[in-house]
Amino acid sequence: MLSYINVKQDSHFPIQNLPYGVFRTENNPSPRVGVAIGDYILDLSILEQVGYFKETVLKRETVFDQSSLNKFMEKGKKAWQEVRRVLQTVLHADEPKLRDDEKLRKKAFVLQRDAEMLLPVKIGDYTDFYASKEHATNVGTMFRGKENALMANWAHLPVGYHGRASSVVVSGTNFSRPQGQVKPADSTTPIFTPCRQLDFELEMGCFVGPGNNLGEPISVDNAEEHVFGLVLVNDWSARDIQAWEYQPLGPFLAKNFATTISPWVVPLEALEPFRVAGPKQDPEPLPYLKTSKPDSYNIQLEVYLQGAEMECRQLIAKSNYKYLYWSIAQQIAHHTITGCNLNPGDLLASGTISGQEKESRGSLLELAWRGSEPIQFEEGEQRSWIEDGDEITITGWCEGDGYRVGFGEVTGRILPALSKVGDRSSAEHSIVK
Ligand code: CA
Repeated sequence: MLSYINVKQDSHFPIQNLPYGVFRTENNPSPRVGVAIGDYILDLSILEQVGYFKETVLKRETVFDQSSLNKFMEKGKKAWQEVRRVLQTVLHADEPKLRDDEKLRKKAFVLQRDAEMLLPVKIGDYTDFYASKEHATNVGTMFRGKENALMANWAHLPVGYHGRASSVVVSGTNFSRPQGQVKPADSTTPIFTPCRQLDFELEMGCFVGPGNNLGEPISVDNAEEHVFGLVLVNDWSARDIQAWEYQPLGPFLAKNFATTISPWVVPLEALEPFRVAGPKQDPEPLPYLKTSKPDSYNIQLEVYLQGAEMECRQLIAKSNYKYLYWSIAQQIAHHTITGCNLNPGDLLASGTISGQEKESRGSLLELAWRGSEPIQFEEGEQRSWIEDGDEITITGWCEGDGYRVGFGEVTGRILPALSKVGDRSSAEHSIVK
């Protein structure tokens, strides 16, 4: 399948992908929905205005001249499929409708480099799972020893916690090092300090479409109908704060200061050619968690670190989405089995995606084994934890036959801790875009 828009072979955004995002431009500062194609964004608010979607279930409704994807997401799978058919048709090399409409093309295509990408979704609730067996084993080994690494429940249910939606930010948002209570090993009492063990977590997240009514669980076989698409997630973590605060209720401030997502939401349908089986599950899950088809995806993932003094970014981890033990379908079935309602725009993150090899560990905690094996860089620098000025970038893509379905990047840089905590009247702000 080829488009008349030129797309390089290693581009993340060929006609087979068409991820959705929200953007604005200098000429038109109003946020609106677009899809990525090659180096361009196709502005769907323009196509909607001239009736390109009137034959779909959306009819003439305004769903793309919006500051979030929520309205489109709640329409459900039929609407997503029909819009995708329209877009793949009008972008196809042999289809003259938009290709030969020079006036409309000029209005509807925007270069990505001329656009500012915004948070694509108004996120109501954010849940963070813990779905990688290798990650859970590594962390458990470090904090509790090899014998007690995996908790008794881990292989029976997708462990997760309810996170903080208000601090989910879009790629490119830089923020100050968080501060909080930590208890140094050589002290009997805690101290207040800028975080000394700041970490990233390589994750992916899915956005919920229609969702369910309170009291009506979603079955595991029906769960994917509710998934609009996937993004890259960096779930920043303050490990020293976490180690002191996490018992008995789990992460709190260690995870609530920032979670960064990539701006393009890749539709589940675009990932279909890359569907694979996840790891074999042993013990067999209880019936409500048992899936009847392969339900993972072959998505290659890479993490880069660039320090303030480094000339270019350095690859520090390579992993794959398919390593995850618990699937999205199982996470949704488990999340809702009590009757808990998921709403359009909810974000479910996978948890850190680590594999069996050392290079596939998805956090600095694991890569540098809690500071005992620092990462050595060629230029002489080393890292156990993230330093001020460091930029972390995660990228991911599926490798097709001559094309890639990619997620672009999620990136963020750490600024020094605020000098006066709570002083919001000064010029100092903890979030900078
Ligand atoms: Ca996490």
